[in-house]
Amino acid sequence: RSNAEKFEFQAEVSRLMDILINSLYSNKDIFLRELISNASDALDKIRFLSLTDKDILGEGDNAKLEIQMKLDKEKKILSIRDRGIGMTKEDLIKNLGTIAKSGTSAFVEKMQTSGDLNLIGQFGVGFYSVYLVADYVEVLSKHNDDKQYVWESKADGAFAVSEDVWNEPLGRGTEIRLHLREEAGEYLEESKLKDLVKKYSEFINFPIHLWASKEVDVEVPADEEDSSDEEESSESSSSEEEGEDEDTEKGENEDGEKKPKTKKVKETTYEWELLNDVKAIWLRNPKEVTDEEYTKFYHSLTKDFSEEKPLAWSHFTAEGDVEFKAVLFVPPKAPHDLYESYYNANKSNLKLYVRRVFISDEFDELLPKYLNFLMGLVDSDTLPLNVSREMLQQHSSLKTIKKKLIRKALDMIRRIADEDPDEYSDKDKKDVEESSDNDEKKGRYAKFWNEFGKSIKLGIVEDAANRNRLAKLLRFESTKSDGKLTSLDQYIKRMKPGQKDIFYITGTNKEQLEKSPFLERLTKKNYEVIFFTDPVDEYLMQYLMDYEDKKFQNVSKEGLKLGKDSKDKELKESFKELTKWWKGALASENVDDVKLSNRLANSPCVVVTSKYGWSANMERIMQSQTL
Ligand code: ADP
Ligand code: MG
Repeated sequence: RSNAEKFEFQAEVSRLMDILINSLYSNKDIFLRELISNASDALDKIRFLSLTDKDILGEGDNAKLEIQMKLDKEKKILSIRDRGIGMTKEDLIKNLGTIAKSGTSAFVEKMQTSGDLNLIGQFGVGFYSVYLVADYVEVLSKHNDDKQYVWESKADGAFAVSEDVWNEPLGRGTEIRLHLREEAGEYLEESKLKDLVKKYSEFINFPIHLWASKEVDVEVPADEEDSSDEEESSESSSSEEEGEDEDTEKGENEDGEKKPKTKKVKETTYEWELLNDVKAIWLRNPKEVTDEEYTKFYHSLTKDFSEEKPLAWSHFTAEGDVEFKAVLFVPPKAPHDLYESYYNANKSNLKLYVRRVFISDEFDELLPKYLNFLMGLVDSDTLPLNVSREMLQQHSSLKTIKKKLIRKALDMIRRIADEDPDEYSDKDKKDVEESSDNDEKKGRYAKFWNEFGKSIKLGIVEDAANRNRLAKLLRFESTKSDGKLTSLDQYIKRMKPGQKDIFYITGTNKEQLEKSPFLERLTKKNYEVIFFTDPVDEYLMQYLMDYEDKKFQNVSKEGLKLGKDSKDKELKESFKELTKWWKGALASENVDDVKLSNRLANSPCVVVTSKYGWSANMERIMQSQTL
């Protein structure tokens, strides 16, 4: 094009496109749901802006918040258009030429090894999936703040942007034209597109229309027999092959009547056909929504189409001062970067709607950090519609919503633990990681713990109000768990009569801890000791002081009491000289005190940490962090 400005793709984008265009990946269908999802996002944006500025939508067709698809069989073009927010020239260059989000190279890496493109939408590069089926793509776009532009690329490392003086004005929004590759002919079939929308885009909240052919009976004057050329409307000029089944009966009809004034013929007409029924799943009665529907909704919500089922969900209505409906999901897997930026980013994965209108998916006020692994949405009737995001963020109802969400989330997680046996061995753990097809058979809580256990621990540290509830969800191994996971409730059930404290020990791994001299006497006396082997456990135990009125006692620390011994005092007296001598010999910068102990069985002596000091394991963790 004469007025085109040329740009090179960011290297990372180029690499991604190369992979996509050369991909032998069989499931090329995914491009359509990515485009529809982008169209839906763009519509959400304009609708949100229109809440505070009514004029922004314009009039007539422009105000229709919808998605339209059209086929041009002759030219092999599939186009998808929306009346969303559109893109300015600058947007086109930035959004369709660079990758802003992190994790893309991780995705490219993963894709090259696994060949699975199902997660593409989650990585913020879904648009480029058009190159799975097209070798040339045009993006026409009109934003309220700019003229209409066209972006185009043949995926050859470069793209061009020019002012669009060739195409009809869009009014507002974006049209993506895919010039389909030879082998992607199936996407020119209406039935294929209908199937795909049904399968993947069922939960899009805007109407999706297809310019679809329809056979109708029409009466035509009997003497105008060769009218087939004019039968099709001008808009469908490209689909001439569908006109062929007409005019089979000529002259006489079945009754043998001669020369009737009119006759019936089949004619192909075109009209917009609605492909989805726009009903929000969260407004329905939970009893009437099937598991399959929830699973599909989860996939569309998270753009995770890996076919895995969510581990659990909770769909509820909150009533009272603050009314809202919500659906929460526990994903089957933790996202790759869940803990990477834990303390810097607070990105909740809940979408906020106010009275069915999408407001934001970047609200941090809905859930505490440690529950950021949850997916879902909240739709509130109580929150005001026509205020800015900033104002909403400060609305007093949010506190109540958050509180209820946490409660429901923890209930949901507890339910997984109640419903599914969570004891599983190390061997099973491996199986869970290695194969996904026998997932169903494994305890869901074991899976949950494997993926999100750390979040529960961080919750115990951060959320004092729910500490006890979270502690109930804690799982660990112990001297008596026999290679399986166990809980505090189970520990308490196994406690010896008269045992007051819950014993635990911290370290790098179970094997090392099992040999620890700190355990000798305890195991000999048949006490159970919990193994805490995750670095985060040290922090955890600084906050978790007791559970069900039982105190936690680190067995490597001073103050371990295993019941009274009548000879204690006597012994202490008779060893006084020795302990005194030792304390002098070891010097005060090395030890605080030297004491007689009954905690050992075989080892002659042991170094313990003072009650309020860091455990040896904590020292090790701190050292590794500062070095
Ligand atoms: P993501 O949707 O995750 O951001 P994509 O690769 O699908 O990633 O799209 C990249 C960006 O291009 C979007 O964030 C959006 O800004 C822009 N975009 C894509 N399609 C449209 C559209 N139909 N209307 C407006 N903007 C769009
Ligand atoms: Mg997208």
